[in-house]
Amino acid sequence: MAGHDHHDHDHHHHDHDHAHGSELSETQLRVRALETVLTEKGYVDPKALDAIVEAYETRIGPHNGARAVAKAWVDPAFKQALLADATAAVGTLGFGSRVGDHLVAVENTPTRHNMVVCTLCSCYPWEVLGLPPTWYKSAPYRSRTVIDPRGVLKDFGVTLPSDTEIRVWDSTAETRFIVLPMRPAGTESWSEDQLAELVTRDSMIGTGLPKPPGAAR
Ligand code: FE
Repeated sequence: MAGHDHHDHDHHHHDHDHAHGSELSETQLRVRALETVLTEKGYVDPKALDAIVEAYETRIGPHNGARAVAKAWVDPAFKQALLADATAAVGTLGFGSRVGDHLVAVENTPTRHNMVVCTLCSCYPWEVLGLPPTWYKSAPYRSRTVIDPRGVLKDFGVTLPSDTEIRVWDSTAETRFIVLPMRPAGTESWSEDQLAELVTRDSMIGTGLPKPPGAAR
């Protein structure tokens, strides 16, 4: 009678035995099967698939945005071009955007901080920031950022002066935003490459700030 508890523990020890035939998950097996069929039928070139995967893993990511930001910090003409037409400006750096996409850069100043959200879904400037973080797609971030941006910033560990205006930009499928954060003080002699190391993904979404120079290495 008092012994019913220990039965609960006994039920579980065979649960994972069925998986030991393969290291692949259900999804991985399905993807592999699809790729095989599509390749055999001649619908896709495996080399093209590899190139897409490689692009997402290495070429597309926040390091692209960081390069654009660092260049804007050291090159006033590029900064002007970025703020005037970010799609064209980042295009000159060699990473293009999708046809029909419109990228807008919004500049942080001592009096104004910008934050980016997509209240409807998860639109995100992937060509400069890569794939969106999970929290960016979460309902709490999407709804709260509009209502209480200062509270969201606090959750991210960012406290701004109370007189700094916070502007929230709502992305759409056509218009995506990248924040141009303020260049950290004490980096006057830094090279563009060094500066790019300070530019975090979150600082380009507006939920973070660039790293301070002391944190660089
Ligand atoms: Fe969206």
